[in-house]
Amino acid sequence: MDFRFTEEQELLRSAFADFAKEEIAPYAAKWDEEDYVPMGIVPKLGEMGIMGVFVPEEYGGAGLGHVERCMALEEVARYSAGLAMMVFTHHLGVAAILDYGTEEQKQKWLPGMCDGSCVCGLAVTEPGGGSDVAGLKTEAVLDGDTWTINGRKCFITNSHCAGVTVVTCKSGEDEKGRAIMTTIAIEKGTEGFAPGREENKLGLKGSFTGELVMNDVKVPVENTVGEIGKGMPITMKELGEVGRASMSAIELGILRGCLEDAVKFAKERILYGKPISKLQAIQFKIADIRCDYEAARLMTYNAAAMKDAGKVGAEFSMAKYFISEAAVRAARNLSEIMGGYGVVNEYAAGRYLRDAICCLPSCGTSEIQKMIIAGETLKKW
Ligand SMILES: Cc1cc2nc3c(=O)[nH]c(=O)nc-3n(C[C@H](O)[C@H](O)[C@H](O)COP(=O)(O)OP(=O)(O)OC[C@H]3O[C@@H](n4cnc5c(N)ncnc54)[C@H](O)[C@@H]3O)c2cc1C
Repeated sequence: MDFRFTEEQELLRSAFADFAKEEIAPYAAKWDEEDYVPMGIVPKLGEMGIMGVFVPEEYGGAGLGHVERCMALEEVARYSAGLAMMVFTHHLGVAAILDYGTEEQKQKWLPGMCDGSCVCGLAVTEPGGGSDVAGLKTEAVLDGDTWTINGRKCFITNSHCAGVTVVTCKSGEDEKGRAIMTTIAIEKGTEGFAPGREENKLGLKGSFTGELVMNDVKVPVENTVGEIGKGMPITMKELGEVGRASMSAIELGILRGCLEDAVKFAKERILYGKPISKLQAIQFKIADIRCDYEAARLMTYNAAAMKDAGKVGAEFSMAKYFISEAAVRAARNLSEIMGGYGVVNEYAAGRYLRDAICCLPSCGTSEIQKMIIAGETLKKW
């Protein structure tokens, strides 16, 4: 076993880190304060290879893997978890097209998605409950070679900026009355397809989260992503494997922010004539944040490496569950280390906590992850 990154991966990581320090760090607090989505940075993310990091070069991507994708997300999220949310959800939609799309779809959409001229999205959740994917109601009816889609999605990242959104629809029922799903790509500007309300979130500012409304949207059958009727496994695979490793990487970025800020503050804050880093109670909190970060790092990159190796398992859910909770824990620890300064918006501690809380439900709540983990454990052990 060797848990180190390769030399090439380390070089890439430092390139992503330099980019994030220059292009994201100076503005992250302002984006958060003004709830501003920095669309201007998307072409730069494209130039850095981040938008299409795992897409083969023939479609305009960087031709790398999911480990490198998670590295990019960690570095972006170190300073702006909100912006990282935009990138992660873009990757979800891109992955669906790459894994299941036709050659024509890949040629048509992937180059723009890689260079940052077209942001992608994946819309599953509905007002009726995100955990109950099988209960979704957005209906797609195929007549000849045209789908007619009606419904409403909510909590969708990139709702107000995506050029293409892969939408999970109910396209029928089986003989037992269970929903049959199909995933269909809808382009921005298609008649009847529009963003609805934009949510005013607690955190993860720097990304749009909102509704998508579909009223008699006509879409050619060529926009079907994957086989008709196979939408459920497609959606669950992308959410499960790409989505949960990504959320883990974003939360890892928040954890690193907590660790770096905790160390800095503890060394600089003087009480009783010496830095508070000399106090054992403060050291214990720093030790807790460090352990959470190191465990989270192993779990994130293990999940990403599993994806690259084509392996499946509950490790994706374990990473998402553990790191979601760890990020909230670390942000609280940081806030406490900082005393009164921990709740002052001039410092990032409050933002980390708000962002970490907003990560909890994204890509499945902790309860849903625990159900998946328990299900696999009870089967295997
Ligand atoms: C910032 C953000 C971005 C998001 N982006 C996207 C996106 O791009 N695309 C998308 O499709 N969705 C997106 N979502 C939606 C997200 O996937 C859902 O919020 C999540 O799946 C939970 O669904 P829900 O909010 O409807 O909660 P519900 O499903 O209504 O759950 C409510 C509560 O019930 C619990 N619960 C549900 N089922 C069970 C069970 N069987 N056993 C025990 N407890 C249970 C849940 O854990 C939760 O505590 C996003 C959410 C957020 C917060």
